[in-house]
Amino acid sequence: MRRVSIFGATGSIGQSTIDLIRRAPQDYDVVALTGGRNIAQLARDAIDLKVDIAVTAHDNLLPDLRAALDGSGIEAAAGPAAIEDAASRPADWIMSAIVGAAGLLPGLRALEQGTTLALANKESLVTAGPLLMATAKTHGATVLPVDSEHSGVFQALVGEDIAAVERVIITASGGAFRDTPMEQLANATLSEASSHPNWNMGQRITIDSASMFNKALELIETKEFFSISPDQIEVLVHPQSLVHALVGFRDGGIMAHLGPADMRHAIGYALHWPKRGEVPVDRLDLARVGSLDFRAPDLARYPALRLARDVMEAGGLTGAAFNAAKERALDGFIEGDLGFLQMADVVEAVLDQLCRDENLASEEINLDNVRRVDHLARKRAEDVIRGKQG
Ligand code: NDP
Repeated sequence: MRRVSIFGATGSIGQSTIDLIRRAPQDYDVVALTGGRNIAQLARDAIDLKVDIAVTAHDNLLPDLRAALDGSGIEAAAGPAAIEDAASRPADWIMSAIVGAAGLLPGLRALEQGTTLALANKESLVTAGPLLMATAKTHGATVLPVDSEHSGVFQALVGEDIAAVERVIITASGGAFRDTPMEQLANATLSEASSHPNWNMGQRITIDSASMFNKALELIETKEFFSISPDQIEVLVHPQSLVHALVGFRDGGIMAHLGPADMRHAIGYALHWPKRGEVPVDRLDLARVGSLDFRAPDLARYPALRLARDVMEAGGLTGAAFNAAKERALDGFIEGDLGFLQMADVVEAVLDQLCRDENLASEEINLDNVRRVDHLARKRAEDVIRGKQG
């Protein structure tokens, strides 16, 4: 039996992971589940999967979690430190699916125990990629990508020499506003931005897909995960979301990864790796699909892609500033304080300020510096948002 833990268990990726585990309960011993506000879901899954411990991120919800687990014998805990402790509990495979920079510390704790970390939480790579990958190396841990594009690249690279790679292409559906006229984007509403044409995901990543901040994070994630140069990484708009990634080699050949728009494929690949297991996703019928469309991304429509290029070029702690400013700007849009297009303005203003005032590119990427820059970027983003309000 493999011991597994799922961080962000109540979310979209977490629930898809649980779906796979539930189909083969004899194979898994679930150690820990963590969630945020959705206590009912967390407790239901914890009892069903007979876990050792369930943790909510919110201290004030501990009584609710205890009540929901009453009589089950399952340990309940709350708060960020308890989530970190749960990540230190021995497990053979850990899913990192907390949304946002909050996933970084649990991910590091998991790696410190030398486990296999299935990484959906791209924000931790954007914020502190070199630290995360170095921690994995030091402790003999394995990091497997879960983002569909990065899983696709990873799969296309099996048996290949990374030195023979000329370019990596990650695809983008174009999100909710792919075909919306530019002049309408300024007034795009929260509910419009929260619906994705192809993927069923959490609200934050769905909005980030509409603005392409998600693709921007993924560009940086590609650089950090595969250690390739920014000028080797391309984005290609592919409205059907069936080709997830392409890897071009120096002999001119391209390996493409195709699959249905169902995250259980990438999660299942990471779960069964290095083997392939049965995964209950629809099989592609390409005759029925008929054609696959591709086009270059419009950089005027998606300033996030331009900003990601700047971040990759600058390196260092710039990723931490970018992610934190983006998270704060996204909060601003969700709370109604910012228009859709203003999110990119806020992030750009924060990056401009911090690149001018701080040594983001040259300072060491350690936890103290990452925390400081993350805090600073959120604070500056807050100030810029206030300024825009009036
Ligand atoms: P969801 O919003 O659906 O789920 C997020 C999870 O994190 C929930 O369990 C939530 O708890 C928990 N959570 C929220 N805030 C905190 C916090 N501060 N501390 C601890 N836990 C917290 O997100 P997704 O599943 O869509 O995405 C998760 C991660 O996977 C993200 O990094 C995303 O970019 C990445 N990803 C997602 C894909 C997808 O298809 N959804 C595809 C590829 C990558 P609760 O809901 O109980 O409040």
